[in-house]
Amino acid sequence: MTAVLTRNTQPGPLVLQPADGNYNDYVVWQGAGDPDGQDVQLVSAEAVQTVPFQRAVARQLLVVEGDDVPAVDPAVQAYLDRQAAIAEAARARAEAELNDKIEHTENRELHGLGCVGPDARGTGTCNTMVSVSGKDKDKIPPLCSQHKHLALHYVAEVVADNDKVDAKPERTRWIRTTMGPREKAPTQ
Ligand SMILES: [Zn+2]
Repeated sequence: MTAVLTRNTQPGPLVLQPADGNYNDYVVWQGAGDPDGQDVQLVSAEAVQTVPFQRAVARQLLVVEGDDVPAVDPAVQAYLDRQAAIAEAARARAEAELNDKIEHTENRELHGLGCVGPDARGTGTCNTMVSVSGKDKDKIPPLCSQHKHLALHYVAEVVADNDKVDAKPERTRWIRTTMGPREKAPTQ
């Protein structure tokens, strides 16, 4: 096995860690398409045998230029494939757990919302603070004990709330569809 020319396929620089104590094998590639051609580097025969190098080639971070492509030991390849599969499974599991946690938290979190029932004069909203869980936030209109019976009179409308920088892109607005029999129509 001789030294081989290898090209970095990634946009950023890539460093091959030297084997223990052997700093002659320290190789730095510049990002792919480097104007000075520093994305292609010579790797010593010794360094070609190292796991970091073979791993980089297996992941196609590095491609070997020319015909002298070093064969990756099938056992090493199997090992690398297995490592990649384990890493992918762990990543997927972590992502699923995180999503579960976020969903769980959002559902249980209590939101203090102003009651959307009519105020005493029927011209505005009651606005008494009520606690609504995240799970119910967009399903049940926030109504205080005095206005709870009006729940069926409200429909949810999702509106964009783009004027607030920190606001979530959407929020739910509750619109009253019918007037209760003893309720005065709001004066415009
Ligand atoms: Zn109320």
